[in-house]
Parts: sequence; structure tokens; C-alpha cells
Amino acid sequence: MNRSGDLNLCTGGNNTLTTLLYFIGGTALFASSLFLLLKLYRRLQLSFAKHPTLQGHSKMLRMSSKWVPRYNIKGEQFFGCDGAPIEISKIRRGAFFKLAEELRVQNPHSSKLTKELENDISDLDFTKRYRVPYQFADFVNKHLAINTFVDKSKHTQVRDVDGNWSDDLGGSYGVNVFGYDFYKDCMEEAQRAAGNMGPVLGPYHPLIARNVSRLKKISGLDEVSFHMSGTEAVMQAVRLARYHTNKRRLVQFCGAYHGWWDGVQPGLGNNRKVQDVYTLSEDSDATLRVLRQRDDIACVLVNPLQALHPNRNAPSDSTLLLARKGFSFDKARYTNWLRRLREVCFDKGIILIFDEVFVGFRLAKGGAQEFFGVKADLVTYGKTLGGGYPVGVVCGRADLMRRYKQDQPTNICFARGTFNSHPYVMASMDAFLNRLDCNEMDLTYENLETQWNSRAEYLNARLIEENLPIRVVNMLSIWTIIFPRAGRYHWLLQYYLKSEGITLGWVGTGKLLFSHNFSDEDFKRIAAKIIRATRRMQEDNWFWAPSKGLGTLVAKEFTKALWRPQSNQ
Ligand code: PMP
Repeated sequence: MNRSGDLNLCTGGNNTLTTLLYFIGGTALFASSLFLLLKLYRRLQLSFAKHPTLQGHSKMLRMSSKWVPRYNIKGEQFFGCDGAPIEISKIRRGAFFKLAEELRVQNPHSSKLTKELENDISDLDFTKRYRVPYQFADFVNKHLAINTFVDKSKHTQVRDVDGNWSDDLGGSYGVNVFGYDFYKDCMEEAQRAAGNMGPVLGPYHPLIARNVSRLKKISGLDEVSFHMSGTEAVMQAVRLARYHTNKRRLVQFCGAYHGWWDGVQPGLGNNRKVQDVYTLSEDSDATLRVLRQRDDIACVLVNPLQALHPNRNAPSDSTLLLARKGFSFDKARYTNWLRRLREVCFDKGIILIFDEVFVGFRLAKGGAQEFFGVKADLVTYGKTLGGGYPVGVVCGRADLMRRYKQDQPTNICFARGTFNSHPYVMASMDAFLNRLDCNEMDLTYENLETQWNSRAEYLNARLIEENLPIRVVNMLSIWTIIFPRAGRYHWLLQYYLKSEGITLGWVGTGKLLFSHNFSDEDFKRIAAKIIRATRRMQEDNWFWAPSKGLGTLVAKEFTKALWRPQSNQ
């Protein structure tokens, strides 16, 4: 009995224990499945918020770039790689070498200098190689001279070392908003104002005070910090956001540029694993959902230039293999997107950073914040603000700009930079901001939108009238040329434009940057040059393209190149 009683008791105890173990195991299993499901759900949500293109998936982009074959299109193939009949190729051939001769005669000195230095200046080597699609680069570089050396500027024009004046639409990477003479004046004034100080760093030139108070007013924010480039300003803004929120993730948008540092370039050319950046779709409900639901996001970085081409890289001739379509600027839509983004960031305590290094002072005196009517927590400026000298600036809310924590004395967020607040830069910025303060400038800003939109409309109307196969799209004075029909040689337009006396940046027809001192007369001259260059290109048969199948043709070329060693190309 006893034994059996014991046994019973023991069995009873075992049962209870087993049940308990089952219960604990089941609960743990249930909890971990729930956790995994939740994780999966969040991962899926993140995937949905990524842009469906390769550009939206940085890891895949990096991986796939290893598979893209290097090959050259040269010789006779160069003139008919779109399947053009032989008569067309012949015309193109003649036209190509005529253009080459024209450019050679135009720029002997500059071409010689370029040749001498292209292997010594890595930037020159890179831009030369990627000015046009890489397949065409060797042949183009062998024959078509592009001017890289300039020794003078005046009004809207630059003079190359061979003495040719041309209209500059390269815009010095966006620095030149008001015309080169404007900046020359600022720089001269700076030399006069701060010349006595020379390169003294550490102590400030007193002019800094005026810059600070104006920048606070312009940005509507409480504090300012000075840096040496746009890249540095963005680095600092992101770092501060992480420091103050104690969160590590940064959200940026597909296609947006924020400088060249690893932290915002998780894809191409960056072998470091950048796991604290999400590159999501802009103008997207899925993105807003991710921002609402996650708790690990420190900040969202917006480059308002993307309003011209949301979710795409800035257009450049180096990627122009077929057509450049689908660009448009819809201010109301982008404004609405920024408002919704602002609201979510506010609700979730996510820091909203506007990177206005490129667009600040170009769109409006108060930059993109004023232009779109949306306020950010931190704003970065650069380029033009230095009045011709290099600069980066962060403006922000006082609580976010602080580089230490009141209650944790050793927890600091250190950021300096030897040349920050350089006296010449401060003095030139002061000259720049002085000029911005005058009534005449207010008037210029007031008319900007109408003026540049009507110029774009005028040029497009002329292009239609002349039956020419290009159009322009603009966000005020930032323009891009689009090619509504597919073709393999659109990038050649930059060389025709050059021979007509237009200087472009290395991205070619992807970005035309007008300075705001272009008068109507200046603009008409540019429009005539664009029309002439396009007409010549049309007459030389470069816009000829098969009615269909061009994409397949290029795909076949790629596939073939994958299997053939480079030397056989
Ligand atoms: N942010 C934006 C939006 C930019 O356009 C750029 C430069 N093109 C940068 C940051 C980097 O500025 P910098 O070249 O002065 O470092």
C-alpha cells in the first residue's frame, strides 16, 4: 500500500512536473514563435519599404556590380551598336570625326594638360572614365577632347586655357547660385576683412557673430556649428541625432546623395558593412509605417533635391544607355510627402534632418524649409554659403546641438575640425549673407519659380516646334535634359553642347545648373545653343534608333561580354 501509495504519489508528482514542463516548454515555444513571427513581420515591412529597384537594395547592388562585365565598344561597332543600317553608321562616323577635329582645334592646350595629369589626379582619372557610359569611354576619350582647365570667369561664363569663353551650366557642383562675379566680390571682401588675421584658427574672427545670428534667423533654429564641407556637416548632424536619441539607425532615401562618407553609402564601393542605415522609398506609405512601428530609428535624412527625381540617383550621362524618362517635379506632392514625414517623426521622436547642402539658398532664402513650408530639427548647409570658400554648416535645435550631456559629464560627442570657422570663410560668408539681405535679392527670390518655369516652358516649346527629340525638366534653376525616346548615343549631346560653347559638369546633360544672374537675353543665347547642338546631333543621325528591341540588344551585348574575356572585346 505504502509502496503503491508512494508510487501513486510519485506518479502524481511526475505528472504535475511533466505538465508544468510541458506548459513552460509550450509557452516558451509559443513566445519564441511569436517573437520570430514579429521579427519576420518587421523584416517584411522593412522590405516593403525599400524601393523595388536595385538602387533600393544596397547589398544586392554591391554584389551585382561585381558581375557587370567591362567591355568596350569601339571601331566600326561604335557607330552602329544600336543596329543602325550601314548608311547611318557612315554618316555618324563622318560626323564623329568632324566633331572630334572641332574640339581638338578648340582645346589643344587644355587637352594636353588633361593628358599630362589624368594619371596623376585620381579625380580626373575617374571623371574622365565615367563621363559617358563606360562601354564607350575608351573610344570617346581617345578622340573627343573635353576641356578641364579654366583660368577665368565672368558673369555666366568661364574661359578655358585656350582662350574660349563658354556659358557655364556646370555650376561648380552647385556652389554658383548667383554668378561668379558675386563670389569673386565676396572673396575679395573677405580678404580685406580678415586678411590681417591670416590663418589663425581657434580664436574666432568677430564676424562669426553676424553669421551665427543670420543663420539662426534663416534656418529658424537655435544653434549653429561650422565645418569644412557638406559631407562633414551631414556626418555631424547624423552623429548628434544618434547621440541624443540613443538609437543607432539612420533612414535615408533611395537615390539621395549626402556626401561621400561610408555612413550614407552602404552600397557601391563600400566594403564596410553598414548595418545602421536603412535606405527606404521616398513618398511611400510603407516607409511611414516602418517609421511609426520601429523604435530603433534615430533620424531621417532628406535631400530635397530628390523632389526632382524621387527614388532615383541624380541623372548622369554615365548611366545613360537608353532613355532618360520619368523625371518631373511636383511641388505639391513632395510638400505633402514632407508634411507626412514631419508628422511621423514628431510623433515618434525621430530627428528630421534636411540636408540642404545642395539646394539651400537656391530654392529660397530660407532654403527647402521655406520653399516646401516644412520645418526640420537639424539642417545642413554648405557649398554656396561659403561665398566661394569651402564650408559646411549645421543648424539645429539647442537640445540636439549640445555635444555633452548635462548629467553625464564624461559622455561627450566630440566634433571639431582644424579649419572650422576659418577667418576667410567666416568673412566671405558674411559678405554672402550681407548680399542676401538686400531688397533686390528678395525680389529675385520672389520671382524665381515663375522665371525659371517659364524659361523651361519656352525652351520645351521651341524644341517641339523644331521637332527635336529632347525636353527639359526643372526644379527652378536645377535642370535635367530628358530623352523621351530610347537611344544609345544620347550622352553625345554633351560634346555637341561643348562645341556650341556650353560647359557642363562631369555628369553631362543630367544636371544643368543655372546661376540666377542669367538674364533673359543670356537664357535665349543658351536656348539657341541647346537647339543648335540638338539639331546637329539629329542631322548627324545619332537619334536614330530601331523602333523596338533596343533593350534586348543591349542585354545581349552584356550577356556576350560576360562570357568573353576583355581582350576579345
Ligand atoms: N549633401 C548634399 C545634398 C550634397 O549635394 C553634397 C555635395 N554634392 C554633400 C552633402 C557633400 O558636400 P561636400 O561635397 O561639400 O562634402
